[in-house]
Amino acid sequence: AATAAAMSSSDNHSAFTRAQAVLPGGVNSPVRAYGSVGGDPRFLVSASGPWVTDVEGRDYADLVCSWGPALLGHAHPEVVAAVQEAAARGLSFGAPTVAEAELGEEIRRRVPAAERVRLVSTGTEATMTAVRLARGYTGRSLIIKFAGCYHGHVDSLLAEAGSGVATLALPGSAGVTAASAAETLVLPYNDLAAVEEAFATRGHEIAAVITEASPANMGVVPPEPGFNEGLRRITAEHGALMIMDEVLTGFRVGPSGWWGYENSISPSPAGGPAYTPDIFTFGKVVGGGMPIAALGGSAAVMDHLAPTGPVYQAGTLSGNPVAVAAGLATLRLADDAVYARVEEVSSILARALGEALAAEGVPHVIQRAGSLFSAFYGPTVVDGVRDYATAQSQETFRYRALFHAMLDAGVNLPPSVFEAWFVSAAHDDAAIDRILAALPGAARAAAEA
Ligand code: PMP
Repeated sequence: AATAAAMSSSDNHSAFTRAQAVLPGGVNSPVRAYGSVGGDPRFLVSASGPWVTDVEGRDYADLVCSWGPALLGHAHPEVVAAVQEAAARGLSFGAPTVAEAELGEEIRRRVPAAERVRLVSTGTEATMTAVRLARGYTGRSLIIKFAGCYHGHVDSLLAEAGSGVATLALPGSAGVTAASAAETLVLPYNDLAAVEEAFATRGHEIAAVITEASPANMGVVPPEPGFNEGLRRITAEHGALMIMDEVLTGFRVGPSGWWGYENSISPSPAGGPAYTPDIFTFGKVVGGGMPIAALGGSAAVMDHLAPTGPVYQAGTLSGNPVAVAAGLATLRLADDAVYARVEEVSSILARALGEALAAEGVPHVIQRAGSLFSAFYGPTVVDGVRDYATAQSQETFRYRALFHAMLDAGVNLPPSVFEAWFVSAAHDDAAIDRILAALPGAARAAAEA
């Protein structure tokens, strides 16, 4: 902490003032601003394991984990060493490397249906490319997405999106043309009847259904049993593709993402996965904190991408060697023990959060999807949240109070009620104790809000 304080040139408020004068809102991604919870976002200078340190030298037990990538904790020594070693050999070549094939093979080993993989730099690029590929493959235009799901800031996918769009209570985004919006059908999540109906009327125009594998951008709203399988069945019946967005869940909720997790819970009677999407998108953990994302799918579909096929996609920094080194090191370290630990930590914290809220009489529900969890607040959610409309009906002001009480007690939570709490395998007793000690007071603050 002393080093961090020495590194800071300013207190947190002046850092924010300075940033606001040059960066819109003082941030480079809206979810980092404290838009819905109020106050100055903490400016960070370093992170290690489960801890982050701000410009004033204060440390926080971190439950943001870079919004997902830090599965192993921050600055894992072996990942940092792999990055340093790769950087010393050159930052970017603009030519293929063997390590890119290794990362592709590691992804395919975990998700065999990703027979071919394309590496990109952000989750947004992955979903944008998946949508273009689905349109190029099917020759159709329409995309179905679900309200409350976030797939990055792709024009056609911003309608009724989760994450920062939900936090700021926006219906979508200015700057998206009516023509683009008209090519997206937004349906309520967990509602297969609505999907059946859309396909019954416009099935021959629908290129793909894109869905979060298990949504976590409207809070955690898991698919009901059979929902993903139903999407697979309906899309296949109508010659449309199923795009499963595992940017957030992939390699976090288990070694093979939500798809592997769900299919090991409920494998088909014949054995093997109950369903297989056509295209997967990955991000976050796959880059271990560096900018890597990916899409993967059957060779038949993926080979429609240039240079083998007519669907164009490219990137100066795609498959960047330093980023690939971080991703490979992270996935190679993410063994069963890591997933077991992440699951254990999230169980402890989810239970403690529920107990603290119950002790203060705060109406709430805690929802989990593997190691992902979040709480919803208020009387309208207590029977469970299965869609965006219910998620939006909650008492967001309670989270605002809880968030600040936790921050004051040295815990860094996502600054929005619509986000999951992310844990890492590096969350040790000291970090867990910090969080457990903070929860009762924070629950009281939520009760009194
Ligand atoms: N899809 C999902 C499910 C996400 O959670 C996110 C980011 N939170 C994205 C896509 C977009 O990824 P990126 O921010 O890297 O563009």
